Amino acid sequence: MKAAKIRLYVEHPLGQGQTVPLSRDQAHYLFGVMRQGVGDAVLLFNGRDGEWRARVAEASKRGGLLEVDGQTAPQRDPPDLWLMFAPIKKARTDFIVEKAAEMGAARILPVQTDFTNAERIRQDRLQAHAVEAAEQCGGTYVPGVAELQKLDHVLSDWPQDRQLMFCDEALAGPASALADSTGRGKPWAILIGPEGGFSDQERARLRALPFAHAVSLGPRILRADTATVAAMTLWQQALGDWT
Ligand code: SAM
Repeated sequence: MKAAKIRLYVEHPLGQGQTVPLSRDQAHYLFGVMRQGVGDAVLLFNGRDGEWRARVAEASKRGGLLEVDGQTAPQRDPPDLWLMFAPIKKARTDFIVEKAAEMGAARILPVQTDFTNAERIRQDRLQAHAVEAAEQCGGTYVPGVAELQKLDHVLSDWPQDRQLMFCDEALAGPASALADSTGRGKPWAILIGPEGGFSDQERARLRALPFAHAVSLGPRILRADTATVAAMTLWQQALGDWT
């Protein structure tokens, strides 16, 4: 049996001796694209049970069966961090979802702001990007990607114990430090605006919220995809699971 290199997300429960049926798409990827066959090993995770090694027991063009034969890593969940962002162009939105999943977001919420140009998103496609990112980066958790919601509604329905890192381009200057006292271990969210930034009305509302912390991401105005990576780095370094 070859050493397992391929990681696959499955929805099936995982445990010693468990058998896992493959969908047509998974069979195509594993046997058609990756040229695996009966007896080869693959790593599986389902977002709940950690990572497991499995062996291909049956392989065909339309499906297949895997047999789980041992755990290779325990389940590891990210901190309770939401990444909220206003969708931009397709490729850059895909990038935001991919990077948020790699960098440890627990949930991804596309939000419609006053200057958001996207009217709709393909939630299923974005969710598939989050799954692929988790497969690639060795994570055992896949953040859920929500449907597009109006920022206004999300804020009106806000869970009061969740802190909000509001990335405000109007503060561009020395980057803000998030002190430990702002809440290590608490639920948090990061908010990134669209290409056009936040409207004056939105900015005034966000700054007045008791749970919001308006921050600068440095002296230059970053594109929303760059800003996502910068904000998640600052947050993870100060309050997350990087330290
Ligand atoms: N059109 C806006 C302007 O010229 O001021 C810029 C919007 S920027 C492309 C997209 C989002 O990234 C912003 O709404 C903000 O959330 C974030 N962002 C970019 N640079 C930032 C900075 N230096 N400080 C804080 N947030 C920033």
